[in-house]
Amino acid sequence: MKLTNTLTSKHTELSELGLNPGDTVTLYSCGPTVYNHVHIGNLRTFIADDMLRRNLIAAGYKVNAVMNITDVDDKTIAKSQTEHPDLGPMEALIETTRAYEAIFMSDLAAVGVDTSIFTIVRATEQIGPMQAMIADIMKHGFAYIAEGSVYFDLAKYQAAGNTYGQLINVDFSPQARVDNDEYDKNEARDFVLWKGMKEGEPFWEFALDGHDLPGRPGWHIECSAMALANLHTQPITIHSGGIDLKFPHHENEIAQTIGATGQPFTQIFTHHGHLFVDGRKMSKSLDNFYTLEDIVAEGYHPLAFRLLTLQASHTSELNFSWDSLDAAQNSLGSLYGWADLRHQTNLSELRFEPSVIDDTLDHMTQALADDLSSTAALAVLYRFVAELAPGMRYDEEDSAELFGRIDALLGLGLSDRSDINADQKKLIAERQTAREAKDYAASDRFRAQLERRGLEISDTPNGPRWRRLELTKPEKIN
Ligand SMILES: [Zn+2]
Repeated sequence: MKLTNTLTSKHTELSELGLNPGDTVTLYSCGPTVYNHVHIGNLRTFIADDMLRRNLIAAGYKVNAVMNITDVDDKTIAKSQTEHPDLGPMEALIETTRAYEAIFMSDLAAVGVDTSIFTIVRATEQIGPMQAMIADIMKHGFAYIAEGSVYFDLAKYQAAGNTYGQLINVDFSPQARVDNDEYDKNEARDFVLWKGMKEGEPFWEFALDGHDLPGRPGWHIECSAMALANLHTQPITIHSGGIDLKFPHHENEIAQTIGATGQPFTQIFTHHGHLFVDGRKMSKSLDNFYTLEDIVAEGYHPLAFRLLTLQASHTSELNFSWDSLDAAQNSLGSLYGWADLRHQTNLSELRFEPSVIDDTLDHMTQALADDLSSTAALAVLYRFVAELAPGMRYDEEDSAELFGRIDALLGLGLSDRSDINADQKKLIAERQTAREAKDYAASDRFRAQLERRGLEISDTPNGPRWRRLELTKPEKIN
């Protein structure tokens, strides 16, 4: 298994790190800040993280994976105050963030993320490890207290021979400190580790260096502390996240971890590419800001969006357009039509030579082990699908194995395809009887009834074949 590693700007092969199939890989992925619905750019990142976990497992590794939920920061606090002005600050925060976390988890499930193979940790439940890490940074002389907050001291960190700027080139000219969690310019700033309490905000007590510092963690410290506290190794093997988090978030995570422990944080930092909408950055002001809910409301299957993201390398930019989603939905419809064949027992059965499924799946697994090349894996799959002659299906045992194994790699839900119902089957039989009696008027009536029930019928030498209409092109937008 090899991955693009931002720390070296090269691919890193896990075997170079002494990790071979059977060994445990530790993986930390930056999760969402739960103050709103996540947008489709975030979802692309979380799908890529899911592909990473699935395919580490497929490549034979044991995976110990964690994702955080940022449920305390500037944005969650502001949102909770507008949503629940009647509640106390801590209650309001929990109320707001749990609600958006539930929506997030349901979005993840809808886009095929396997939530059983990683652990979710909430920032508000890990304040202890964050405070311990801040205390260690302080002890090493890389932090200072100012106006009730604690800041990371970049000058002292650099003077001690550490490098700030492992992921990007950093401009060291301005040296002001900053207490916002997010800032754009690649400027080295003393960033906040712990924010002193503000009136009306939730807070935790914190005794540091003889000072009482009631307050809350800065965003960056959350991930450093939760990664080490929950993965129990250092360095961890892989840290993943969206490319928009590279600076300052990930750069600060590295500095904090080295500042606290003197040891490197992670062996691989891998970043998933941006998602653009019609070639532009998503923004509320451009009216091109979409959530999964928006996509579903336009008649698209959530897994069509997943398939769209798999059609690009996880590190490249991906341009989302409604046309590209149309095409992905059509491709998903073809794959589902193929998977549905298993239920069409009148079609001829095809048994595989035992090696055929293994060979195909091996090719897909190898492609995915090469920096998650889902495009190459999909090409193998589409070639394989094209080889099935019309009027044929795989027998039940082969189908169960084949679709189960493809799902384990790609998460496209092929095994979840169900049979049609008894009413639909009866109409198909009645149409067939009418056809055989050359009563074409009746046969057409049955066809129309079946279409109203979501099925399209085509006639093969072995009898009728049905296809669900659910994934046909939705009404065009605009
Ligand atoms: Zn993070």
